Amino acid sequence: MMLPKGANLQKIRNGVKTYAVTPHLPGGFVKPEVLEKYAQVARKYHGTLKLTSAQRIMITGLRGEDIDAVWAELGMQPAMGFANCVRSVKICPGTAFCKRGKQDSVKLGLELDRRYIKKEMPSRMKFGVSGCPNSCAESVIKDVGVIGTDAGWDVYVGGSAGSHPRLADKLIGGLDYDDTLRIIDIVVRYYQKHADIERVGQFIDRIGFAKFRQDVLAEFAGGAGAEAAAAASVAPAERLTAMPAALTEGTLVLGDPIRPDSVVADIIRVYPQTISTLRGFGMGCLGCPSSTGEPLTKAADIHGIDVHELVTALNQVALGGK
Ligand code: SF4
Repeated sequence: MMLPKGANLQKIRNGVKTYAVTPHLPGGFVKPEVLEKYAQVARKYHGTLKLTSAQRIMITGLRGEDIDAVWAELGMQPAMGFANCVRSVKICPGTAFCKRGKQDSVKLGLELDRRYIKKEMPSRMKFGVSGCPNSCAESVIKDVGVIGTDAGWDVYVGGSAGSHPRLADKLIGGLDYDDTLRIIDIVVRYYQKHADIERVGQFIDRIGFAKFRQDVLAEFAGGAGAEAAAAASVAPAERLTAMPAALTEGTLVLGDPIRPDSVVADIIRVYPQTISTLRGFGMGCLGCPSSTGEPLTKAADIHGIDVHELVTALNQVALGGK
């Protein structure tokens, strides 16, 4: 069964499903009247408000039949587009609000949010923008992270948390605002062009950080030509604006067995080592957001695959057959 539009399945208790919605809230800034709207909607539909790690406010505990009305009454857009896109830009208060700030993380972070949020990527992608080396936006566990210093911005790539944690590699230091945006655009385009279905860190580990850095810095040194290409890469038309049919954030966690109703994007996210198995069964459309948003059973049906055979093979790779 399809998920309600713009909702996340949260729980199944005694056969009853509950859902969450998470509106986009750039930088976690929220006006009082918007906060009041959250409260009104949550109260009306018996939801619970939850602050998320991506600086958003989720309304959870909702019934599927209320989701359309919840979105209509909130008058907001979902935070996420689909599984493989830019999911969040975490922003610390920086010089705008914090006495320790070295750089204006709010200005830079909101610009990154405007340029990239929901933009399609080879895998999920997260940004972190911290105004000083205290790194309150957790920049070194983001796919792209920046940290302010007295000398400017340091740029990090390849960090992640979750089930496959990795600390980011420092790409370059001491950049001004414009050059920071420029090199991030180069990193994003390089990742889009060359990566498989893999996080930035996995991509870097596969090709080697030396090559990644050399290629990115070579284009960065190219100057104006690269800048023009970068501008083209963030054309608004490329961004997903429609309400997604289904989001797949998380019902599968590391250690869970894969089942016929597991969503393909969840399987790839939690067990990236299964990608070659899925491809081996003839599923070549793993980069497609709509196909990866489907349960395994539907995807198997489309490809004429025995879903039980596929599940057994995937669990063999993911869990060693446990
Ligand atoms: S990273 Fe630095 S500037 Fe940002 S909130 Fe933390 S201490 Fe303040």
